[in-house]
Amino acid sequence: MNNYKHNVLSIEKSVDGRRGIKYTPAKKSAEQYLPQNMLRKAAPKLPALSEFDTVRHFTNLSRLNVSLDTHFYPLGSCTMKYNPKAYEALASLDNFTSVHPYAPVDSVQGSLEIIYGLEELLKAITGLDAFTLQPSAGAHGEFTGALIAKAYHNFNKDKNRTEIIIPDTAHGTNPATAAMAGCTVVNIKSGSDGRVDLEELKKALSPKTALLMLTVPNTVGIFEKDIKEIAKLVHDNGSLLYMDGANLNALIGLVKPADLGIDIMHINLHKTLSTPHGGGGPGAGAVGVVKLLEDFLPLPRVACDGKKYKMMTKNKKSIGSVKTFYGNISIILRAYCYLRQFDTNTLKTIAENSILNANYVREGLRNAFPAFFDMVCMHECVLTLNKEKMPSVKTLDIAKRLLDLGFHAPTIYFPLIVPEAMMIEPCETEGKDSIDIFLGAMTQIYEEAVANPELLLKAPQNCPVKRIDEVSAAREPNLRW
Ligand SMILES: *Cc1c(COP(=O)(O)O)cnc(C)c1O
Repeated sequence: MNNYKHNVLSIEKSVDGRRGIKYTPAKKSAEQYLPQNMLRKAAPKLPALSEFDTVRHFTNLSRLNVSLDTHFYPLGSCTMKYNPKAYEALASLDNFTSVHPYAPVDSVQGSLEIIYGLEELLKAITGLDAFTLQPSAGAHGEFTGALIAKAYHNFNKDKNRTEIIIPDTAHGTNPATAAMAGCTVVNIKSGSDGRVDLEELKKALSPKTALLMLTVPNTVGIFEKDIKEIAKLVHDNGSLLYMDGANLNALIGLVKPADLGIDIMHINLHKTLSTPHGGGGPGAGAVGVVKLLEDFLPLPRVACDGKKYKMMTKNKKSIGSVKTFYGNISIILRAYCYLRQFDTNTLKTIAENSILNANYVREGLRNAFPAFFDMVCMHECVLTLNKEKMPSVKTLDIAKRLLDLGFHAPTIYFPLIVPEAMMIEPCETEGKDSIDIFLGAMTQIYEEAVANPELLLKAPQNCPVKRIDEVSAAREPNLRW
């Protein structure tokens, strides 16, 4: 039982004169160290606490966290899978962390070998011809891909291609990316099976189409089974096909995107290839392209002449640099470690287990919370509420009640095309036992929603923070104490 008062700030616990450490007074006065105009007029208002009080304060705060290391974390689309701790140790090795980006190339051959090696592994996995590891997030990878597509069309004097087609089952970052890249977004509605409607696509394609951005699997967790036909329509139109492959854990080892007709794609190394993430980073959105587009990739790139690694810094067609230096090297290191554990035969077990687990959840909750599109899903399933059974309950209430029962909530109200959506991604690293416990909790919540909805409307009751006013929190945030 944690009886710690989480809502008291350290400054409120402060007692004048209390100290953790007592320093020997300095020999000289402050004026002798610093210029007059840089001296404070008054001492800063810092909490005065003993070392023990301070340690206890922060340790107890940290224990309020809901985290992957403590809780089942089915946050759809985020791939919160287990990240082996050994990679943390490897990525923290001094030989990597102390490398300076301006160090002579001869002295950082090891780091370059890892960048090069990871690119080779990603090429083998995707069937694509070249990669950049520079982009520092999925959305940044999309942006890089959109710039590459634009540069390609410009190079071909095809300057009117300013539109990017995006289905309504795309990840939310896709339309934002298209707009950031200076293109016009053309939305297309999905068919009744949650897949791209080929007729809608044909209507949207025009001589202005630069790119079709396809999230695969799409955000309702469904594989676009017509993808080869989609690719043909796009290519016959002189356009390019982009795959948002952030969650490649559904396909890795099973399908090579290049075989499907993809020209450009990104992979979230921080999701698919195991890196602790959330709270905004750091991440890595590796971007792969077919041969035709290789010259447009950002610079610098790592090359190898068979003996030594070097940096390629020149290519007139390149879109330039999208990040300082070579990307988030610590994420690259973790992804490299992770992939080196698998051979081609075992790689696909990642995808198989992520698909199996998601379908196990979908089937297990069939009666309580039905899938919006009732068919086999990929790495995640999108469920909805049976409004007739629980008229006053919303998805938000279910999510809050899950916190009470000791689970991180799933992604809710996304994708937008599913009413009262709950997007659940159990991930391949979760065992049957823990998924069964989750299914038990969801079933309990379903029964409560039917018999005692009041309980859900007031949830969470067991958490340190009860139901917050989300509208005020979003509209009038007060982030300062
Ligand atoms: C997470 C995600 C993104 C965005 O990745 P960030 O690293 O958060 O920018 C894009 N597309 C899909 C399908 C995703 O799941």
